[in-house]
Order: sequence, then C-alpha cells, then structure tokens
Amino acid sequence: MLEIRCPYCGNRSQNEFAYGGDATIKRPELNTEVTDQEWDNFVYYRKNPRGNHLELWHHISGCRQWFKVHRNTATHEILKTLEMKENL
Ligand SMILES: [Zn+2]
Repeated sequence: MLEIRCPYCGNRSQNEFAYGGDATIKRPELNTEVTDQEWDNFVYYRKNPRGNHLELWHHISGCRQWFKVHRNTATHEILKTLEMKENL
C-alpha cells in the first residue's frame, strides 16, 4: 500500500485517494477545429510509461482536492506531490 502526501493534508494511506490519470494531457482549446484523430488521442490514447510519470490524484476521502503526483511507475516511489497550480 502506498502512502501519499496530499499537499493540503499531509501523509495519508492510498485508500483515501482515487487515481485521475495522466497530468500532462492537455484538452484541445475551445472553439478550435480538431481532427477526429486529435480528439481520439485526447479522450482515449495514453502512453503508459515505465519510469517517472506525472499523475492526477483526488483526495476523495479527505479534503476532496485534486493534485499532481510525480511517481515512478516501476518502483512506485513518489518523488513529489504538487498542488494543481504548481509545475515540476
Ligand atoms: Zn487532502
């Protein structure tokens, strides 16, 4: 079981959180033309990298805030947690 440091609450057990996906995906700008392939890439396709990855997590059983986790997907080591407004 992972222990995740919520930037707002501190260290908590993984079972208080929900995984929210890749934090590097950018939604296409509103009111711009996007191809079907660009929309498919945004909605469905993910890279599933091995190694360091920036993820979204939701503290669903705590403060209910979304935040970012920089985590190694091979070792599960959490390198850093960030508020949504912060960048690596
Ligand atoms: Zn929290």
